[in-house]
Amino acid sequence: MFLEHHGDELLKSSLGVLSKAASLGDADLAGVVTGSNVRMLADEAGKFGAAKVYVADDEQLAAPLPQPRVDVLARLVREQEIDTVLFANSVLAADVAAGLSARLDAGLNWDLVDVVRENGKLVGKRPALQDSVYVDVGWTSEPRIALFRSGSFDPNATGGSAEIEDVEISLEDFSSSARMVDQAHEESEGPSIEDAEVIVAGGRGLGGPENFTLVEELAKALGGAVGATRAVVDAGWYPYSTQVGQTGKTVSPKLYIACGISGAIQHKVGMQSSGVIVAINKDPNAPIFEFSDLGVVGDVHQIVPRLTELVRERKSS
Ligand SMILES: Cc1cc2nc3c(=O)[nH]c(=O)nc-3n(C[C@H](O)[C@H](O)[C@H](O)COP(=O)(O)OP(=O)(O)OC[C@H]3O[C@@H](n4cnc5c(N)ncnc54)[C@H](O)[C@@H]3O)c2cc1C
Repeated sequence: MFLEHHGDELLKSSLGVLSKAASLGDADLAGVVTGSNVRMLADEAGKFGAAKVYVADDEQLAAPLPQPRVDVLARLVREQEIDTVLFANSVLAADVAAGLSARLDAGLNWDLVDVVRENGKLVGKRPALQDSVYVDVGWTSEPRIALFRSGSFDPNATGGSAEIEDVEISLEDFSSSARMVDQAHEESEGPSIEDAEVIVAGGRGLGGPENFTLVEELAKALGGAVGATRAVVDAGWYPYSTQVGQTGKTVSPKLYIACGISGAIQHKVGMQSSGVIVAINKDPNAPIFEFSDLGVVGDVHQIVPRLTELVRERKSS
């Protein structure tokens, strides 16, 4: 299992896939942490079910570039005869998984949302036909590589501890020819959209970019993150990084509040696994009401500020 981290934290999506793998009952489940000064992350992985964690801790792995990681993983797979490598999708993980697949001539199943063991074989579940059906996918040879949609599984800390093994680094010449020149972080307050337990998402029904303050205020009051539809990010109302849906992010918060969102299939597939879905829309026939747990027919400009007020009152009392 490739364990990705940002700073000194393992990503929730990686820990989710690790927990899922642990639930399949493989006693040899191992994680791989790559980077510089990352040894302390190995203990964390043990709590989520890894029996062993390989640590590739080296200055040459400091930048989040894929090829050096492909070198580390390819060598481990060959030397340790690893039969399956799992990834939680991200820009980096997708690059590493693709590179590893090419390097090892291994089959890669991507965009999986689940994996099960059937008659001793691993079977992946992959949404198809615009996410309207799930298909079973498998591998015809080893090693198998699987890339899961971000947010497919919740991390489950079982409290174990992992054996830690340092990995020797030996990079191919071509792997060090790319250099990271700059890295920028988008400044944002509160939890990221992938990690948030509450998401308040805005759509075209907000009427304009200036009205995104309505969803921002509600998200802040609830301690959540702001999401958006493709229609509004395409219109330049809100950043692309907040887009939820087929061509955006897949999220599964405990609570998803959709404000002025019609509920197109491409949006639905990115948020349908949320715990509770609340929709506010002035059109009683909007498709979003078909898959909401709670629907409010009304104008977002009246309902959202009132809701924010109520949440604040409740919190302060
Ligand atoms: C290949 C492809 C990929 C796509 N990927 C994505 C994706 O990843 N994510 C995504 O979101 N979309 C995606 N789309 C676009 C998707 O089809 C929809 O166009 C988009 O989701 C609609 O966004 P919306 O709900 O904000 O806008 P609209 O569909 O215009 O809906 C606005 C809603 O707001 C309501 N409304 C209007 N005024 C008010 C008000 N004052 N108060 C309350 N409600 C109000 C309306 O009744 C309406 O239901 C994709 C499309 C394609 C073809």
